[in-house]
Amino acid sequence: MHSRGLIDELLELLFPPRCQLCQQPGNDPLCETCLEDALFIGDPICDLCGAPMPEQRPAGQLCEECRDGRILSAARAVGLHELTLRKAVHHYKYQGRTRLAEPFGAMLARVIHRATERGLPMDRCAALVPVPLHPRRRAWRGFDQAELLCRHISPLIDLPVAGDVLRRVRDTTPQTSVQGAHERRENVRGAFEASGAKCLRGRALILVDDVFTTGATIEECVSVLRNAGAVAVYAVTITRTTPHWMLARNELLEGRDDASGHGTGQA
Ligand SMILES: [Zn+2]
Ligand SMILES: [Zn+2]
Repeated sequence: MHSRGLIDELLELLFPPRCQLCQQPGNDPLCETCLEDALFIGDPICDLCGAPMPEQRPAGQLCEECRDGRILSAARAVGLHELTLRKAVHHYKYQGRTRLAEPFGAMLARVIHRATERGLPMDRCAALVPVPLHPRRRAWRGFDQAELLCRHISPLIDLPVAGDVLRRVRDTTPQTSVQGAHERRENVRGAFEASGAKCLRGRALILVDDVFTTGATIEECVSVLRNAGAVAVYAVTITRTTPHWMLARNELLEGRDDASGHGTGQA
């Protein structure tokens, strides 16, 4: 134990902990200055997909994309896929900044707590289910981003991680390089399989992923889990795409076109 502490101290001397975005020395993987530019989602939101809404309306309000209903029970995200959070997700996934899983996990746990306080029974779910990568992509990346998020959320909300109930059986074209909601749905059709149907029957689950764009990947997973007997499937993500009505408000999105922009062509 003693020597391990010494090694840690030496490592800290050589590589002092830094903000994973701006590289300022400090213990927080995401520093206060970087977090100032995060666009967290607050009320009012669509009751179903969690998208920000222009104004407060009576309970049960749904955004345009949700008017025809969705197979998922409800989705919630920490913030908009812009500025700090977009950059952080990008660094996390593509540059192996896995320390970011810690603040992301805490943020996602808060989102689940808040949703529960507002009447979604997420706390009564049986488990957290990561949206899995294809084994080939996982091997290449070295970690599974959604599974690592689940492991950080799990102790904070006291729910187990069910990492083996959903498998990606087809290595699809990354959704970031597929345009259009219909095309995205087609791209992930049949890409997932459920295993352990017995343990899914009658259960409510929380799917965890990094980004909610059109919801095509998440809804494909929901449909597979529902067919295997799950009664309700919620979804939480770090970010979600900015709704059209907000894109008109350019002042929110200064810095949109910086180096780590949209459409990286990777999953
Ligand atoms: Zn920073
Ligand atoms: Zn919606």
